[in-house]
Amino acid sequence: MSEPTKYLLDEGRLPKAWYNIQADLPQPLPATLHPGTLQPIGPDDLAPLFPMELIAQEVSTERDIEIPEPVREIYRLWRPAPLYRAHRLERALQTPAKIFYKYEGVSPAGSHKPNTAVPQAFYNAAAGVRRLTTETGAGQWGTSLSFAGGLFGLEVLVFQVRVSYDQKPYRRAVMETYGARCVASPSTETAYGRSVLAQRPDHPGSLGIAISEAVELAAQRADTKYALGSVLNHVLMHQTVIGLEAMEQMAMADTWPDVIVGCVGGGSNFAGIAFPFIGQALRGGTRARVVAVEPAACPTLTRGRYAYDFGDTGHMTPLTKMHTLGSTFTPPGFHAGGLRYHGMAPLVSHLKELGMLEAVAYTQGECFAAGVQFARAEGIVPAPEANHAVKGAIEEALRCKREGRAETILFNLSGHGHFDMAAYQQYFAGALTDEAYDEGELAASLSSLPRIPAEA
Ligand SMILES: *Cc1c(COP(=O)(O)O)cnc(C)c1O
Repeated sequence: MSEPTKYLLDEGRLPKAWYNIQADLPQPLPATLHPGTLQPIGPDDLAPLFPMELIAQEVSTERDIEIPEPVREIYRLWRPAPLYRAHRLERALQTPAKIFYKYEGVSPAGSHKPNTAVPQAFYNAAAGVRRLTTETGAGQWGTSLSFAGGLFGLEVLVFQVRVSYDQKPYRRAVMETYGARCVASPSTETAYGRSVLAQRPDHPGSLGIAISEAVELAAQRADTKYALGSVLNHVLMHQTVIGLEAMEQMAMADTWPDVIVGCVGGGSNFAGIAFPFIGQALRGGTRARVVAVEPAACPTLTRGRYAYDFGDTGHMTPLTKMHTLGSTFTPPGFHAGGLRYHGMAPLVSHLKELGMLEAVAYTQGECFAAGVQFARAEGIVPAPEANHAVKGAIEEALRCKREGRAETILFNLSGHGHFDMAAYQQYFAGALTDEAYDEGELAASLSSLPRIPAEA
């Protein structure tokens, strides 16, 4: 075989700046609204929760935002992340397509999430913050922030959803190894947690409750701020190191993607790989097809409404315009915990409305089958979330086979599945069920979206 299967950039090829797609939008993002006044919020409204540098990035329209050197120094622990060509998967599928994947599982936390945890910790430490609070469901975000906070001498307090705290003791042990404190949510440490426990002492918890607890503590104390692992503009921007590196690596391999595929929960790893390429198209350059893959049990982009909604269940956040299933919608249980969110990043939603990306939904059974096929061909066991991207890429490769087209497919393998082997065990035991969401509950949830006069 003449072509190398792995392309690594040297240290000097690490991107110097993140790419901010807000610079290239043909129409700006709809304003974020204050839930009480329904007026656009300003920086002061966010100041109790985030340091000013991150608030500035949230609304910036500068194209290139320099990556601070201390952040690049930490990125170098695992970046540039490798780009592989999936020769063996191509052969197994007997497709004329070329399949490339960017592998984010090489980070210390095993996913793309440290790409934003590190700069968020850096900017908070630089602003004199001493403590960060956050929530975690499956544990991937909590792990990443624990790692990053520790590097900058920050205390990290993680509210982990009770069921996952009890079911995933190893995730908690990793967070504690990095020096974080991990509390089962609902907890007795916040007024909101105590009120939930008063009604139901054995409450299993939810991401919405954990967010409310983390936000409550951050809002109360001047030395404490809050960190979110997806959805927000600055988080998506930090993830563009993935796509920027991939551009260099594809060029080194003397090729370019016709199709780009990523899985979407809040939208950050998908934006990370896709936005630099979409930006090129928005500036009049080469245009690739871009496919976002979501779970059929939580189909935000394919079945949700594009409307103003809250980011959390407790209705403490501002209102953003996004594809949403409604903040009261509870998706049925499935293993890709990182994709179980009722909303979608406003930037991803906006670009979908502008026709810059497509969305598809697959069941978890189909996605695990794709992940197992990938593992047997390429050797890496993907995270259940990443299996959605694998499934999307395989479907594109099979389409190329049917159409006899030798297209180039690039997908993001957002993380490895080493902490998710119980889900694989269930899959092999035939015990994974594909629970459909409740259509009635979705309709009810959508009918109770907040009413915005300008939209009525
Ligand atoms: C958290 C997570 C996701 C989903 O989050 P996004 O913000 O949509 O990227 C996907 N894959 C992995 C491995 C994750 O940890």
